[in-house]
This record gives sequence, C-alpha cells and structure tokens, in this order.
Amino acid sequence: MDWTISDREVTARKPHTCIWCGEQIAKGENYRDVSGKYNGDFQVNKYHWECSTASLEALHKHDVREFEPHEFYRGLSLPRDERLENYPELAANPWYIHNLRREKRG
Ligand SMILES: [Zn+2]
Repeated sequence: MDWTISDREVTARKPHTCIWCGEQIAKGENYRDVSGKYNGDFQVNKYHWECSTASLEALHKHDVREFEPHEFYRGLSLPRDERLENYPELAANPWYIHNLRREKRG
C-alpha cells in the first residue's frame, strides 16, 4: 500500500476471501481489514489473523512488499508455487499440516 486509510480488527458478518491465501474467512471469525491506496487505486484487503502474521513475517524476513492475491499458503510466508515438502523447517507452524493436507487434495 502506498498509504493506509484504516487497519483494524473486524468480526466477519458474512464470509470473505483472504487476500493472502484465497481461503474463506468464515462468518463470525475475527480478521484483519486493511484499506488504503495502492498505485492510485483504492483497495480493501482482508486477511486471516494467521495470514496477517505471515505477511508481516514475509515483509520483515524476505522483504515481500507486493504479492498477487492468493499467492501464499495459509498462515505461512511461503508462496503456493513452492512445495511444502521442501520446507520441513516450517513444520513447527500450526498451519503447515493444514496446507499439506490441502495441497495433497489438489
Ligand atoms: Zn488467509
């Protein structure tokens, strides 16, 4: 974002799609809602909490400032075009198994 207008914790009144992982944010779930201007366009981005944490980790550890919608694994700072099996160090992350199961389903 070039600049942020609001960045807040919200409770979902209806299902949304997480910008980071593309999975659903369920009704009643708390999520992070960030709105602002980016390249001249107004954007509203919604993140699962774990994906918000992952995006901050991606920013600080890997300097990820831009990403394509749904580019990453849920709760991880690893892009979906990488194979999870190649990153056993991520197994300590509680979302690793979730993503592994999902990847195997295809
Ligand atoms: Zn997500």
